[in-house]
Amino acid sequence: MWHIVVSLTCTFNTMWKANTIIYCVSFKITKICNNPTNAAAILKGSFGQIPVSSIFELNMAVTILAIESSCDETAAAVCIDGQILSNFIANQTVHEKYGGVVPELASRAHLQNIVPVVDAALKTSGCALSSIDAIAFTHAPGLIGSLLVGAQFAKSLALALDKPLIAVHHMQAHVLANLIPAEKPAFPFLCLTVSGGHTQIVLCESPTKMKVIGETIDDAAGEAFDKTAKLLGLPYPGGPLIDRYAINGNPKRFAFPEPQIQGLNFSFSGLKTSILYFLQNAGTSNVFKEAFTATAEEKKKFIDENLTDICASVQYRIVSILLNKLKKAAKETGINTICIAGGVSANSGLRNALKETGNQLGWKTFIPAFEYCTDNAAMIAITAYYKFLENDFVPLSVSPSPRAAFNN
Ligand code: ADP
Ligand code: MG
Repeated sequence: MWHIVVSLTCTFNTMWKANTIIYCVSFKITKICNNPTNAAAILKGSFGQIPVSSIFELNMAVTILAIESSCDETAAAVCIDGQILSNFIANQTVHEKYGGVVPELASRAHLQNIVPVVDAALKTSGCALSSIDAIAFTHAPGLIGSLLVGAQFAKSLALALDKPLIAVHHMQAHVLANLIPAEKPAFPFLCLTVSGGHTQIVLCESPTKMKVIGETIDDAAGEAFDKTAKLLGLPYPGGPLIDRYAINGNPKRFAFPEPQIQGLNFSFSGLKTSILYFLQNAGTSNVFKEAFTATAEEKKKFIDENLTDICASVQYRIVSILLNKLKKAAKETGINTICIAGGVSANSGLRNALKETGNQLGWKTFIPAFEYCTDNAAMIAITAYYKFLENDFVPLSVSPSPRAAFNN
């Protein structure tokens, strides 16, 4: 919604036409604001106190083009007034054979993908470039080469179109993916953000005011999934595969330890080591033995014969670590509106466990649609929309940051 300030010093002309006097009153548009308080302040400067309600409201929608390129997905989306019109993602398959993301290859793939992805997002949305009100991009955190491609593209477009630029923090955007559906969580809410690089519990007071109250002290939950998959000989990213195998497995068959970490923080590195020893001992023990009891063949045979149960048991432990901390956070803060976000929130075990725990404890739970869980530009667009409403723009001199934390 835009607000238009109309100069009250209108020109007033009369003219005669067919024996009728016509009074012509023309108003001059002096300024367009996207905020009624700003509009009132401008009018107050010229004419004294003007109530905000007297500002003439023009129902012009805010259209944003958003770009995400923090890691290995090149994505673009268009939204109007917070409604997502298009959301395109080019996944980079080039990393599969290396068992993880290769930064240099990711940057090169972004360069190849960005024009077709932005073009597809614009075409699908039905919006012309000329109708875009602002360009948004992910400025942190991520791989610097990947971030640079999206940032430079967004800056060039903003310069060429003479439109404002909005810098979005990727982790804030994951949280706000929960505001994309029509049914949105009421503030304040807690969000468990779980991805390949982060595991956080975030207390959200408004779209732009949020605080991290717990996070991992070592590996992220997504890394625990991916590294387990690698130990099992599965391709990268292994999280979705573990999820698929776990559906047919027994989650109580093998017991993996739950770390005892103070407060609302998480740790997954101990679990990873325990899984490593467990596999090297072909399931006989979770602890390090100087001479591992199993040969490479025995280990492979053990994995082949027990894959679904191993996946289900590992997933069960990761999910229980996450939910136990979430329960603690809800109890300590007294907040019962609980959301999840990030790539790992696509995990069916986590989604089901959240719903079950929510039913038991009377939580109101929110889970984004699958396409808004893993990296995407729709979440950048929705975050940019709320930043636009607060006139939170950045100059063209802005640089992306691989590590910047978000603190509002
Ligand atoms: P990033 O960490 O780059 O922000 P995402 O937010 O897209 O990336 O999260 C990617 C992570 O999510 C990867 O670790 C991947 O294995 C994990 N993931 C995606 N889908 C699932 C799933 N169904 N189950 C478990 N993990 C998943
Ligand atoms: Mg992410």
